[in-house]
Amino acid sequence: MMRKAFRARWVLPIAQPPIADGWIEVENNQIVAVGGPDKYRSTAGGQPIRQAAILPGLVNAHAHLELSWMRGQVRPAPTMPQWVDRLMALRRSAGHEPSVPIVEAISEARAAGTALVGDITNTLAAYEPLADSQMSAAVFRELLGFSVTDPGPLIAETRQQLEQLTQIEWLRPSIVPHAPYSVSPDLLRAIAAAGQGPISIHLGESAEEVQFLRDGTGAWRELLTGLGLWSDSWMPPGCSPVDYIEQHGLLNEHLIAVHCVQLQDVELAKLVAAQATVVTCPRSNRWTGAGLPPVARFYASGVRVAVGTDSLASVEDLNLFAELALMRELAPSVPPAALLASATIHGAAALGFGRELGSIEPGKRAQLIAVAVPDGIDDVEQYLVSGITPDDIQWLA
Ligand SMILES: [Zn+2]
Repeated sequence: MMRKAFRARWVLPIAQPPIADGWIEVENNQIVAVGGPDKYRSTAGGQPIRQAAILPGLVNAHAHLELSWMRGQVRPAPTMPQWVDRLMALRRSAGHEPSVPIVEAISEARAAGTALVGDITNTLAAYEPLADSQMSAAVFRELLGFSVTDPGPLIAETRQQLEQLTQIEWLRPSIVPHAPYSVSPDLLRAIAAAGQGPISIHLGESAEEVQFLRDGTGAWRELLTGLGLWSDSWMPPGCSPVDYIEQHGLLNEHLIAVHCVQLQDVELAKLVAAQATVVTCPRSNRWTGAGLPPVARFYASGVRVAVGTDSLASVEDLNLFAELALMRELAPSVPPAALLASATIHGAAALGFGRELGSIEPGKRAQLIAVAVPDGIDDVEQYLVSGITPDDIQWLA
């Protein structure tokens, strides 16, 4: 049996308030106990990491690792459809997703303290690199198809593709839809019916999506027409993004609604009632022209909030701490503890890893990071959401 103990100035279990001079006991890579100076265990030895805070590895609830080769190549745009135009043109020019940038992106995310990622994929190009890494992942095999009227064969083929993957305990594949403007109602319903785990969808990301669902016009309609994907049988539902996916069976506790920049309070209330999760990716929203997300309204609504970076096509790096710093800037009234919970325990629960990751509790996997904290910091939570760089992060074996 491999028994280890870690001690530090701060331990942040997330499931309870920070513990000053805390310790964690680990056996066979599993957490067996956590505590503070009032209940030292004789067995809790280990070298104290004095000026550090130990946290659970972070959860990046939305990324597209296969797009990592696009880093710095799709410049910011004033509107999201314009940005997507640029992205699609670049993707067509390449024709495949090279693996070296994926491998580098995974190690970069690890170096920034990420233990688990919700990874959107159309090609499964990141699957083997993930299998060779220490990263856990909800692998969201994403389908598009605005003119698909008979989704059966597509679902069956995708299922078969997922079944043929090497089974890895910490990689969990499922089938998900891209967005309301790129997936037909039949395909949305079929994915909802096929789903057994979390279902991620890009939702309420752009103002153009709201317009498209309201009356069927605007930039998304033009894009579909231009690509030859427009379907005359599609009738604008004349409703909001959340109402739309509810009509097609996706509004439930498995729903991971990504972005939600354009959602109204009444829609957020529906997500709360359904016990769904919002994933916010503020740096990406700023880059793509979607606009800054209403972070304070997310938290005020009571919805479960998780955090993602999105892909390296729309963000500078995969450092989730940088995302937290922008959230802090956008919503200074939200307590730092709530932001940290979003980047850990809420993300893990939403991605279906709530029993293993996201907090420091007995029985969970010891995926622990130590973040250097300078002398004189008394609000450690506030410090951790103020911008931490990988230089200050160390994984505890
Ligand atoms: Zn995305």
